[in-house]
Amino acid sequence: MPTADHALEWNLADLYESPDDPRLTRDLARAAALAAAFATAHRGRVAAMRPPELASALGAFEEMMDLAYRPQLYASLLFAGNTGDEKAQALLDRTRQATTEAFNLVKFFDIEVKLLPAAAFEGLLAAPELAAFRHHLEAQRRFAPYTLSEAEEQLAEVKNLTGRAAFAQLYTEVSARIRIPLEVEGRVKEVNVAQARALRSSPDRVLRRRATDALMRAFEDQSHVLTFCFNTLFQDHALEVKKRGFSDVAHPTFLEDELPPEVVEALMSATERRYALAQRYLRLKAKVLGLSDFSSHDLLAPLGKVEKKVPFAEGRALVLDSFGAFEPRFAQIAGEFFEKRWIDALPRPGKRDGAFCSGMLPALHPYVLLNYNDRLEDVSTLAHELGHGIHFYLSRRNGPLNFWATTPMAETASVFAELVLMRRLFDAEQDREVRRSMLALRIEDILATVFSQVSYTRWEQKAHARRAQGVAPAEEYSTLWMDERRRLYGDAVRFLPQDRWGWISIPHFIHHRFYCYSYAFGQLLVLALYRKYQDEGPAFVPRYVELLSSGCSATPQKLLSAIGVDVADPAFWDRGFVTLEALLDDFEKLV
Ligand SMILES: [Zn+2]
Repeated sequence: MPTADHALEWNLADLYESPDDPRLTRDLARAAALAAAFATAHRGRVAAMRPPELASALGAFEEMMDLAYRPQLYASLLFAGNTGDEKAQALLDRTRQATTEAFNLVKFFDIEVKLLPAAAFEGLLAAPELAAFRHHLEAQRRFAPYTLSEAEEQLAEVKNLTGRAAFAQLYTEVSARIRIPLEVEGRVKEVNVAQARALRSSPDRVLRRRATDALMRAFEDQSHVLTFCFNTLFQDHALEVKKRGFSDVAHPTFLEDELPPEVVEALMSATERRYALAQRYLRLKAKVLGLSDFSSHDLLAPLGKVEKKVPFAEGRALVLDSFGAFEPRFAQIAGEFFEKRWIDALPRPGKRDGAFCSGMLPALHPYVLLNYNDRLEDVSTLAHELGHGIHFYLSRRNGPLNFWATTPMAETASVFAELVLMRRLFDAEQDREVRRSMLALRIEDILATVFSQVSYTRWEQKAHARRAQGVAPAEEYSTLWMDERRRLYGDAVRFLPQDRWGWISIPHFIHHRFYCYSYAFGQLLVLALYRKYQDEGPAFVPRYVELLSSGCSATPQKLLSAIGVDVADPAFWDRGFVTLEALLDDFEKLV
């Protein structure tokens, strides 16, 4: 049915008519002109600005931002919808370049705000005219105490090319070249790291074991070079952090995320105290699989199969229905995505794979891209992306500088929406095995994002601390790794000797230092908020709406305290585990 399918493609005409729309060229030109005028008016003058002038400069900055991003956002959606379209590709290049040029012209503004004397800056923060920009100004300045002189910063940047960046690149290249001989269905073939990782969730236990073992052996073979990368990057980071005046190697990451270190520690230690919950689930899983020797290569084993077909119309109805039961306004907003064609739902040749929600700008509505394929996971992805969509939609009351949620808050609405949908699906499902699989998928997602990521972060802290004592041999990092594995899984999991190479296969430790905790933060925050919803009932909903509507107008801690949540209190995080325990209880009844 071509008409029905057509309705499932997004309508980008809300932005521009076509890549040749003269309004697009005009917007690019206006953005460039605004950026140039901004530079002429304000360069070198920020220190002398009084609050009303700074407020009006920030307003002009937002206006320029809006015009500069619009064409690029349009081009990126056009390209995502048809990656083979050369015109879209060319437009994306052109608009990206224009955005970069415009922002280069106004870069001085950030630098001058950062260089303001502390007393003058405090005065500006206190001014009522700047209330709407207070958080933005504070966020801009947060690295100021740790910034070196201009000459030092420039030298560091240049030396990083052959230093930090080169070692990270070496790690990537060595891992990317790994080829693993593996016997699959009676034939030995060569697979790469990603393929071997995927085989660890095969229903065939022998294959799972073989894939896990071969993957770890392949990393062991490269361990000399890769350990050298770890040791070098750990040392490089420790030296830089010290030079900048941070007291801890993890603090720059937490500052980036605008979270005080004690909040991260509260989350991590609350999780560590509940490691027994992960063990409880894995014992139940072993029972379902009929294994008396549940091992590390069974962690990702599938539990039964959820082969339920959910056509798009049905998936849409399920999502809207579950959203509506939570808050009618959510169903109404999500409904607009379908009615007004803000969603591109079905796979087609040339379209980008996966799914995303593009938040665009406050003056524009969000768009969602999916590759809906009638699987139960696709319904969940639909809920996830529409959760993001609702978050952006509500956040549109803010200006562009307060619009996009900070990293720790970015997945709140999406994961919450998945949970709301899951409860609805679970309660309506009659088939015992399907119910069990649904719960297993949810619980394993929590295991992977909360428990594993906290244990990764803890290993990372200990590994950096070990490196501070001098170069460490690979085996010492391996020992620390197995200590953390055993702490998490207790005697619920049997390990293979090769498991000790797990740490060396995780690129986050190289490319996104201390980042793993943020997955745990996002997921556990949602579990705790969901529990709060169950405790407080409908009274919770308007507060949650307010949280989403606030965008990034304050730090995560302030936004959450406004709805009565204290993230520095371990007791708040404990609530998240109550939600998990309820899921485990339901699961146990079905084992
Ligand atoms: Zn997401």
